[in-house]
Amino acid sequence: MINSPATNARGDRPPKDVPKTRRCLRCIAVFHSDWAGERICTQCKNTAAWRNGAPARSFPPNNRR
Ligand SMILES: [Zn+2]
Repeated sequence: MINSPATNARGDRPPKDVPKTRRCLRCIAVFHSDWAGERICTQCKNTAAWRNGAPARSFPPNNRR
């Protein structure tokens, strides 16, 4: 092992905000989240309800088509 201060400067930060596939908390759809805190899919975020700041729970099903 080589103790190089230049190499040991940074790199101790755990990869938390790594983009990965998650499940939406609203529609349970699998989507690609950009970071760990991203738990709502893009479609749900684009809805007017989400923009209005509605709670993530107790929302009417939006599958009326
Ligand atoms: Zn969703």
